[in-house]
Amino acid sequence: EMQEREIIKKANKYAANFFRYVLMNTETGKSGRKYLADRKIDKQTMADFFIGYAPDNWTGLSDFLKKKGFTEELLVKAGLSNRRKYREGVYDRFRGRVIFPIYNQRGEVIGFGGRLLEESEKQPKYLNSPETPVFNKRLSLYGLNLAFKTIRKENHALVMEGYTDVITAHQFGVNTAVASLGTSLTEEQAKLIRNNASKAYIAFDADAAGETATLRGLEILQSKGLDVLICQLPESYDPDEYLKNYGLENFQKKILDTALPLTEYQIRQAAKNKNLSTIEGKKQYVTEIIPIISKIDNAVEREEYLNQVSEQLGISQEALNSELMKYFRKNY
Ligand code: ATP
Ligand code: MN
Ligand code: MN
Ligand code: MN
Repeated sequence: EMQEREIIKKANKYAANFFRYVLMNTETGKSGRKYLADRKIDKQTMADFFIGYAPDNWTGLSDFLKKKGFTEELLVKAGLSNRRKYREGVYDRFRGRVIFPIYNQRGEVIGFGGRLLEESEKQPKYLNSPETPVFNKRLSLYGLNLAFKTIRKENHALVMEGYTDVITAHQFGVNTAVASLGTSLTEEQAKLIRNNASKAYIAFDADAAGETATLRGLEILQSKGLDVLICQLPESYDPDEYLKNYGLENFQKKILDTALPLTEYQIRQAAKNKNLSTIEGKKQYVTEIIPIISKIDNAVEREEYLNQVSEQLGISQEALNSELMKYFRKNY
């Protein structure tokens, strides 16, 4: 007998084909095709990511899959259908959305993300599959199935936030891009990256959510032994918008080549919104960066940072060193 997980993956595969067919070959799919064309996602990229469209009706997919022999119970377990509240039967989870199938590294469809065509106050912009026996968000990196070979070859991954960031990156030939789907990176995702490379570039959205996610994700990546480099996009941009507005060459030269190592990024973040010409500002700044500097193993590197901060603040290195020693005594 086929394992339940295998049956769910099979249902997902049928669903992906259904969404794909609707997008490419039906009148219903027209609005999806227009949406993707407006976002300048080309036909080849749509095929590579197997992008589809979920029709805006209640039971299109559920009916199709039931005819293929899947039970309602299984469709609910797979996160493809929801049970009706007030009567028998099920209805489609994804309706009227562009569909991004989510694959594991082996290329099996484990879940879906669906995007509304236009902003709405009633519904979330993105709707993802729920956790299922085959889909665990913490363990997935969107795009890894397409990216992992290049990630190995180039020994780095480029981690972004969203579906469209990864899709656009690949369209521009940046084939190491993957997305964490949501915001903060998990330990499991960090391990997945570490299995394939020793370096990770982070290119999260230059907005408040992205910044918080960056700071949290970094520690996790570093703790798994990855060299972490932080890309800084212009205010309010995400990688998708940046690439489409400024092109590949700028992305390479101005974003990737100028990415900051973790420690430098953290020190710069700590300086933000502080008045470093006041004693209070200096104290706060030093209090924030001492724990960061204490994590640097290499003594030369540590001294170099202390040097820089000493010059920046007009404070002797001895004073900074004594704060560092105090911190070491308390915490190690
Ligand atoms: P788009 O360019 O289509 O507007 P985006 O990827 O830039 O999408 P963001 O708002 O920056 O969208 O969110 C980043 C990622 O976070 C999304 O790609 C999606 O994976 C996830 N996400 C965003 N909003 C939601 C939501 N309401 N529910 C679940 N996941 C979400
Ligand atoms: Mn964002
Ligand atoms: Mn975007
Ligand atoms: Mn975004």
